[in-house]
Amino acid sequence: MKHSSLPSQPKLFSHLYIERGILEHPQTQMIRVKFSDSQVIVIEHYKEVFNRSAQSFAAQSSAKKLILARKEGKFLHEGSQYSDGFGIKQFFYASSVMGCLYDCDYCYLQGLYPSANTVLFVNLEDAFEQLTPYLGEDTLVATSYDTDTMAIESLTHQTKSWLDFAAQNEKLHLEIRTKSANIKALKNNIPNDRVTLAWTLSPQEIIDRYEHATPSLQKRLSAVREAIQLGWKVRLCIDPVIYTENFDSLYPQLIETIFATIDPESIEHLTLGSFRMSQSHLRSLKKLRRSDVAFFPYTVKDEMATYPETVESYILETLLAKATQYLPQERIRTWQRQS
Ligand code: SF4
Repeated sequence: MKHSSLPSQPKLFSHLYIERGILEHPQTQMIRVKFSDSQVIVIEHYKEVFNRSAQSFAAQSSAKKLILARKEGKFLHEGSQYSDGFGIKQFFYASSVMGCLYDCDYCYLQGLYPSANTVLFVNLEDAFEQLTPYLGEDTLVATSYDTDTMAIESLTHQTKSWLDFAAQNEKLHLEIRTKSANIKALKNNIPNDRVTLAWTLSPQEIIDRYEHATPSLQKRLSAVREAIQLGWKVRLCIDPVIYTENFDSLYPQLIETIFATIDPESIEHLTLGSFRMSQSHLRSLKKLRRSDVAFFPYTVKDEMATYPETVESYILETLLAKATQYLPQERIRTWQRQS
């Protein structure tokens, strides 16, 4: 088996599959102008393409197609046990895109979806309508849960729409998690204290091995610095930590690199968490045989695969010891299996 899947620089969207019912939607029309060279195929329902059997995730990853669709039913799903709701009781994630432009070997989407193509639901206005009844109380929405919305922002403008909606609704809190270096949406909006931008950072060697098509560490750090200078709230996430033979040098060095140019006082939190995944997603990842990440001898308990307790504790202790040289422990959040 290969050490990790081959680096891919996806050739984007040679084909646009568009549901007949949204051909006239303003976002569909905007995207058609942007991809005027792409072949357009009109379909009745996105599942005809996205859910086809016997698709090759690996082949599609390097030649992704875009499917434009209308979301029927719920945009909002309750927050997951694998994520942090920051003490806000009403915590949802919004599912407005299926699939991601990036291609991380450890991504659970490979186990979740039958296809590496991207489905963009253009009717975001329906998500806002569904959310409105909750907005009498503090409500957190993770907008980038099953994708990286900032990575696809130049195409969708969804982050901008969420920021505009949050500006009008004072109980709405957003978490926008990203590996992107594209912060144009932030530059066009006034910073909002209820919005947290959460950047996932990894050592460059881990990015090269496992986070294909994502921006380099330096590009992410420069986006982080710019967002902070613009006045946005930023959280840094070293999560998931991938345990490799040179963990001892890679990850403590990452923390040094981060705080060599970012003032620890300027970030809200640092989140540390080691790789974890539901057992069923891990099984699917193994079947794809794309990467050694899937084949570590994980411990499975309550349907969740994690590093064995000794490894998980070692990862957290090592990183906490380093991180507390820069930040007080109360501003460091950790994810560890509750035994
Ligand atoms: S950026 Fe996130 S959602 Fe996208 S492929 Fe990587 S892990 Fe998956």
